[in-house]
Amino acid sequence: MTVWDWKFRIFFQTEVKNEVKEWMTKLKYEEYKIYENIVEFYSSFYSFGILFDLMSENVSEAKTYLTYAIESIDKIVQTPMALAPYYRQRIKSNFKDSQIQQQLLHLLDVSLKAHEVKFEYWCLVAELLGNSHEAITNIFLSDQFDSTPYKRPAQRTIHRETQATFEKMYLFATTDTTLNKRFGNNAIKNFGKKITVGNGYGEWWDRDISATGHDELVLYTNDNEVKREDYFYTIIHETYPGHGHFYNFVCHNNTLMDHGAMMLTEGWATYCEWNTFPSKYVDVVKHNALVFLNNSYLLDCNTRANLIYERKRKQGLKVSQFITSLIYATQYIGYLEAYYLGALWIEKAIAEKYHSPVEFLSMLNKSNKGEFFKLWL
Ligand SMILES: [Zn+2]
Repeated sequence: MTVWDWKFRIFFQTEVKNEVKEWMTKLKYEEYKIYENIVEFYSSFYSFGILFDLMSENVSEAKTYLTYAIESIDKIVQTPMALAPYYRQRIKSNFKDSQIQQQLLHLLDVSLKAHEVKFEYWCLVAELLGNSHEAITNIFLSDQFDSTPYKRPAQRTIHRETQATFEKMYLFATTDTTLNKRFGNNAIKNFGKKITVGNGYGEWWDRDISATGHDELVLYTNDNEVKREDYFYTIIHETYPGHGHFYNFVCHNNTLMDHGAMMLTEGWATYCEWNTFPSKYVDVVKHNALVFLNNSYLLDCNTRANLIYERKRKQGLKVSQFITSLIYATQYIGYLEAYYLGALWIEKAIAEKYHSPVEFLSMLNKSNKGEFFKLWL
């Protein structure tokens, strides 16, 4: 399955839904049942953010999506107040047709008072995690858990040598003998590298889903303000032993691979960030991920969005620098949760059952996937 974000497309895009259904026919009965639940959940609602992004991305289909959205207005989920000014402005700048503007503004207003699907989402998580569910949610819901986020330690800035620094860090990680033993030797061969202007961390595009048909790595320079630890752990996450290693070790020639199985793919890369080079930085990153899960489980949409908004403002960030994370946290249901829940599940599985990460990867390579399918959310 090569549409990596199919969960956020199936509500509007019939062709994506058909592709998922077709792919599902390859699954065994129990696996098929799991997938049916995931598909049913993601087909049962849409968010304003998803509609807006699809309309902006696919202008020729914009009216079709909009018409369907209006017909299904009872399926729209809540948009937090914190995003309303941003969307009001973007509606006007992205769409010149005044009827489209009016209809979008109306949908946005309705969504501000709409319901959440938080309960349904966490029920699905409980069902998929099965016996592990209680132990995993306890990590971030127990009374002992401190749900205040920690401040990231100060980092040095890499002003220019982003390319040379990448080469050094990549070599350092891929030739670390302890890591090679635990995760297996680096399975990545050739890949394209693009260190480019833009905000964010990085992306790994596996050859099955990249535009060029080759493995591609993208890293962002953040206005020439790349922070040392952010950069290093991004490289771990994206290349070795994160995404690049994972895809090359496990997924090729595996017709059952679902690139949209985010608890598996992003969970693995996040597991690698947390479990390769211990540091104060990683402790804080992991703690804040658990705070995110805690808030996602316990707080309503507006409270959560306001907290994120206030924290980012306190860190001195401009709205344009964090609006994307606010959108992902509230409009792409389960998106960020999948990173952290997947990592927690893999941590537990490796500690209790597979002894080492490379054994876990080898299990995924075998035909009988077993618990593998629990990570397909
Ligand atoms: Zn990733």
